Amino acid sequence: MHRTITALLTILGVATVSEAGAATPMALQCGNVFDAKAARLVGERTIVTGADGRIQAVLPGKASAPGVTVLDLSGQTCLPGWIDLHVHLGQESNPKSYEERFRLDDIDFGYRALVYADRTLKAGFTTVRDLGGTITPHLRDAINQGYTHGPRIYAAGKSIATTGGHADPSNGINSELEHVLGPPGPTEGVINSVDDARQAVRQRYKDGSDVIKITATGGVLSYAKSGDAPQFTVDEVKAVVETAQDYGYKVAAHAHGKDGIRRAVEGGVTSIEHGTYMDDEIMTLMKKHGTWYVPTISAGKFVAEKAKIDGYYPEIIRPKAARIGGQIQDTFAQAYKAGVKIGFGTDQGVAPHGQNAQEFGYMVEAGMPAAEAIQAATYNAAEVLGAPDLGQLAQGFRADVVAVPGNPLDDIALTSKVSFVMKDGVVYVGGSAQ
Ligand SMILES: [Zn+2]
Repeated sequence: MHRTITALLTILGVATVSEAGAATPMALQCGNVFDAKAARLVGERTIVTGADGRIQAVLPGKASAPGVTVLDLSGQTCLPGWIDLHVHLGQESNPKSYEERFRLDDIDFGYRALVYADRTLKAGFTTVRDLGGTITPHLRDAINQGYTHGPRIYAAGKSIATTGGHADPSNGINSELEHVLGPPGPTEGVINSVDDARQAVRQRYKDGSDVIKITATGGVLSYAKSGDAPQFTVDEVKAVVETAQDYGYKVAAHAHGKDGIRRAVEGGVTSIEHGTYMDDEIMTLMKKHGTWYVPTISAGKFVAEKAKIDGYYPEIIRPKAARIGGQIQDTFAQAYKAGVKIGFGTDQGVAPHGQNAQEFGYMVEAGMPAAEAIQAATYNAAEVLGAPDLGQLAQGFRADVVAVPGNPLDDIALTSKVSFVMKDGVVYVGGSAQ
């Protein structure tokens, strides 16, 4: 098996562990630099990165330093590596998804995830929050140990649902199989009481999760009728959040319907994912609680489009995909106007991995200035993660840098034309040395 992995890594052009070296000190001479805190461009700067994978200095103009490799990025805008707060690296939806889960093993999804991680990193997303999937904590470890490459991963592991809820893994299976497997419980991420809720969070800790994900309402792609009914009580949400705090975890809540969003916000979650049917009352409540909104317009547009194709989704999914998917961008526009705090997230794995930057265009199309859309994927997203050394190009921060050819504030589509990617001081795209 090891030989197969090595062969796959060779195909991907990935350095195997013996070749994976530490970062070498570099001076990135950027034609322009994005200040993510102020959400503006600050002009020509040189970013000096160290062997420790961190930014040593940001110097005015074209500078150099002794013993460093100089990279000429003139004509390009350097930005902090982008952060996608909502992906699923363990999957990518296709018309066969509902059958594949019965036929494939985790190792099969694992091989695919290597490709998805590669595409995500090379698209400029140096950090992701993976909100649901049992293989991703293992992928995270393999990346951190240098066996393969990909974005820095904050992994939820298995999402937590209630019986029949959006992340109940036994949805849609026949009764004979259900009898053989037995009903899923907190270990599998299915809870039905506050005690179960505590156990499920503690199990995620044991599994090595970095963040907790709950599915507070129904969802689009689960084999179930309702996409928006509330599926947790406030007490269950509170039990999840309080137990999560014991382990230093933040909680992300998938939620489409208004009642479920309200319960999740009142229960104290950090972020609402999708948030499709939030209204003025909910937006006010989110502002009061300081709850973040992660819109995932990309997923909404993707499923609404695919719902038009006969047979792409099972018939039980199709009306949900058409109705909910088409609504998310409008909700985002209203939430932005209302002043709800927004973090960038795509739900990639619904739409194809590596196309994450399309979300920037959707945000701008809905009325958010380009600078704020990029800030949502850098400065804001780092705050949602609770990562004080991510999301800015400044001394002491992680040397995660992405560059695009030109000014992305004038043309947001440039975010899909990434010309340079560095993560932890190691270059993955572009950057021929001088
Ligand atoms: Zn998701």
